[in-house]
Amino acid sequence: MLDRSIEELESGSLARIASAESLADLEAVRVDALGRKGTLAQVSKDLGRLAPDERARVGKLLNTAKQRLEDAMEARKRQFEEAALRARLYAEWIDLTLPAPGSRRGHLHPVTRIQRELEELFVSLGFAVLDGPEVETEYHNFDALNIPPEHPARDAQDTFWLDGGHLLRTHTSPVQVRSMERLGPPLRMIAPGRVFRNESVDASHEHTFYQLEGMMVDREVSVAHMLYFMKALLTDIFQREAAVRLRPGYFPFVEPGFELDIQCLICGGPGCPVCKQSGWVELMPCGLVHPNVLRMSGIDPEEWNGFAFGLGLTRLAMMRYGIDDIRYLQSGDLRFLEQF
Ligand SMILES: [Zn+2]
Repeated sequence: MLDRSIEELESGSLARIASAESLADLEAVRVDALGRKGTLAQVSKDLGRLAPDERARVGKLLNTAKQRLEDAMEARKRQFEEAALRARLYAEWIDLTLPAPGSRRGHLHPVTRIQRELEELFVSLGFAVLDGPEVETEYHNFDALNIPPEHPARDAQDTFWLDGGHLLRTHTSPVQVRSMERLGPPLRMIAPGRVFRNESVDASHEHTFYQLEGMMVDREVSVAHMLYFMKALLTDIFQREAAVRLRPGYFPFVEPGFELDIQCLICGGPGCPVCKQSGWVELMPCGLVHPNVLRMSGIDPEEWNGFAFGLGLTRLAMMRYGIDDIRYLQSGDLRFLEQF
């Protein structure tokens, strides 16, 4: 009797396991057959009524049936898990051989772009590109440039003073001094860089801006040489003929000194905030290097002379890109920067 029920129970449960379609189906079969109130448990209760050797035999049958069902259920469960894993692998598959999308590339600041272009131009003309400290000595920023302590030019270039008589350089001219001291003549160099002034900030004044200064020291250098280089420079920057005017200008470190103005490229002449309503923008102070400056750097002005010029890189970027407020350039405002 019991043999039959065990066999039927086993074959019936095996069939249900085979046709189970989910872990839940399988769990239902387990509860029905192997659970504490399941059919196998019922059968084992009946064992008690059997004779001892019969009980042992049927007990064995029961255990075997139980073992088979458990094995079958375990195997089916593994099938479900493998199928689930396959489905997940398929869904979440990533091709590691594809090229990465990469980070978003930025671009150069308009001032940096102009600076690099000019460096390239001057290198092609045989000039070296030199750098110098932004924190300078009073000597290199003023005295060595023929601007002694009582000179009014010091007021016009008020800056930020640091401990120990150091200051934030007001122009890149100290690099010229350092180059003359270190390299001596003949010398062709430019010095692009950041400079500082103690200024009231408005549309055309900033406390921090960029300059590029250049100098050539050689034998028999004249204003004609200087003009040749200035013209090459402007043609390269603006890619067109820009109207310029040369005015006498006073700078302590040159003699004679000039002020080279360019017609305002923002308004084209009638006047705007950038050109302070004059139609002209001061672009380049320039001139022949003052004999005192040469002498202070250990160069004999009887044998050597040269020209020097300064160029506002920040102002140049404003002219070229039509930027009407200098404050944008240092603002770090992406809405502004992303336009270039
Ligand atoms: Zn203007």
